[in-house]
Amino acid sequence: MKLRREPSNVAWRSAAIDLLRVDDDNPELVRAQVEVLSRQLPLLLFICLINSWALAWTHYSVAPGLLAIGYPALITLGYCVPAWTWIGASYRPPAHDEACKLLQHAVVQAPIATSISIAWALSLLRYGDSYAQGHVIFTIGITVTSCIFCQLHLRPAVLLVAFTTAVAFLGLALTTDRPVFVVISLSMLLALAAMVYIALIFWRDFTTKIEFQKELAASQRENLLLANIDMLTQLPNRRQFFAKLQDLLRLLGGGGSFVIGAIDLDGFKAVNDLYGHVAGDRLLAEAGRRLMKISDVGTFFARLGGDEFGVIAQMDVNDENVRSLGSRICEALQAPFELQDGGVTISSSVGLAIYPKAGLTEERLFECADYALYHAKRRNRGRAVVFSLEHEGEIREAAILELCLREADFDKEMSLHFQPIVEGPGERVIAFEALARWRSPKVGPVAPDVFIRIAERSEMMSRLTQTLLRKALASVSQWPEHIGVTFNLSARDLASGESVANIIAILAASGISPGRIDFEVTETALMQDVSQARDALQELKAFGVGIALDDFGTGYSSLGYIRQFPIDRIKIDRSFIKDVEADPSCRAILKSVVDLCKNLQITCVVEGVETSSQWEALIELGCTTFQGYFFGKPMPADEAARFIDARQPVAEPL
Ligand code: C2E
Ligand code: CA
Ligand code: CA
Repeated sequence: MKLRREPSNVAWRSAAIDLLRVDDDNPELVRAQVEVLSRQLPLLLFICLINSWALAWTHYSVAPGLLAIGYPALITLGYCVPAWTWIGASYRPPAHDEACKLLQHAVVQAPIATSISIAWALSLLRYGDSYAQGHVIFTIGITVTSCIFCQLHLRPAVLLVAFTTAVAFLGLALTTDRPVFVVISLSMLLALAAMVYIALIFWRDFTTKIEFQKELAASQRENLLLANIDMLTQLPNRRQFFAKLQDLLRLLGGGGSFVIGAIDLDGFKAVNDLYGHVAGDRLLAEAGRRLMKISDVGTFFARLGGDEFGVIAQMDVNDENVRSLGSRICEALQAPFELQDGGVTISSSVGLAIYPKAGLTEERLFECADYALYHAKRRNRGRAVVFSLEHEGEIREAAILELCLREADFDKEMSLHFQPIVEGPGERVIAFEALARWRSPKVGPVAPDVFIRIAERSEMMSRLTQTLLRKALASVSQWPEHIGVTFNLSARDLASGESVANIIAILAASGISPGRIDFEVTETALMQDVSQARDALQELKAFGVGIALDDFGTGYSSLGYIRQFPIDRIKIDRSFIKDVEADPSCRAILKSVVDLCKNLQITCVVEGVETSSQWEALIELGCTTFQGYFFGKPMPADEAARFIDARQPVAEPL
């Protein structure tokens, strides 16, 4: 195939046009040129004026007066407009189109002004003595040099000024009969060539600098975008969420109203665990898309991290609107998610707080939304909860309790109650669950799930666990060897190698056989940091204690977890037992869990048995190990000792 070559004159012409045109499709370059030239061109015009008036002054007496001062007078008036325009541009940068026009005018004016100015100066050459002639040549030289250096940022102007000057000096060299003018002209041509060379290098460096700045600005823009967008869901990220919240608070300044919400996917961790991280990521991306779909004007969704999302909605905050926002979010996330291995259904819990009712600062508002979310997760899973006055009271109460707990003497104020765990139809006591009790001298008895939650939120939990464990082991040491103890651990106890080491040290110091001790952990505690929790449990197991999965059925309830952790027992939550006699579906679930445990060779303890009919129904389902008020309520240590004595198998008469 033959390539069609452009005729060389066409190529030359387009190269020449390229050299002489203003690059109007490069806005950054045009802006930078105008910025520099708006300072340099007024200066150049001033230099030209001074040089012209100086030349007029030296020639006024020798040349015709009109010729000498006519040109300087003309340009004094004529330069006013461009000088004014360029000075104005330095104060108020023009828009792109206007800037291009300004540059194009400068390019056209440069050779015209240069040729008129040189023609005028050369016309004075024939008047006056050689000093005056020297002044003419000096003026042309200095003016042209100023023209070139003041317009280095406008390549076409430099080239046209140089060309015009070169033509003028070539003409002088060819027409003069004075050898000195020939030499001066040739020197001028040489100097012009050098100046053009320098100008071209300068132009290359200038445009490279602008390109670099352009790329830098683009990458800064991209970085800014990356810093504010969550790449997985394409939603704004936590940083942008709080920046938006801050901006909104600043804008409203105490007036107006909006809703802020915290959204958490229930069961997401189970999906991640069972189907893998790729499926988890896909679910999150789809959740982001669904949230984006329901977002309308004034509603702003963001991914705050993990499976937590946030929403800020500017709206008329009446009950109906707020409730409708919550249910729209829950409904959007309830529909099945299509993953590679089929569809999964999860739900979402939402906590909402209303500005300014709930608070005026970003921390307070988010805290309230988070508290409402916590409530939704505990009591209204899959629903939206709006932060209320009742929650406000709970937060205040929790703050008072936290203060009391911080000041508490754990050794004196904390004690344990023990609840029997029985086996078989003969209700043989095999162990007791140790349950913490706190009687504060200031606020009286506090429910364990309340103070444990407060302790868990702070660094107090490890210290509390250590005190309680020592007390539990002291009681166990009084019991017969075949009776064990189960002790509850919290997420904090599993969160560091140090707290596990402390627990093991206490166990070792007690001298009690590790085989008599079980630690109970909940799924929620394990899920806080799966690999750390696994390491912690493995360390405890290596010491010889047993591990029980507590409250099974209230969390993600996936037996898939069990295989990931060294678990010996599961404890089925009492919420499953309530309706065991009346509800066939409840029985079916229990039956399948019991069978699965048998297959996995895991003991299954049923909690919360309150009546004999529940017990009988559970025995029918194949359950063997029980705990509940029906067998014995949690009791102080001395009562537990008496309970054991009363149930001691009576020795057969010899
Ligand atoms: P949990 O570990 O699930 O403990 C069982 C709870 O169910 C106990 O409540 C017990 O009194 C109650 N219970 C037992 N049988 C029945 C029954 O038949 N019917 C009903 N309605 N309830 C029954 P308690 O003692 O109030 O403890 C509440 C929670 O506090 C515990 O739930 C556990 O999560 C936490 N907790 C208690 N002691 C400790 C501790 O020493 N450390 C840690 N980390 N948590 C503890
Ligand atoms: Ca427990
Ligand atoms: Ca339990």
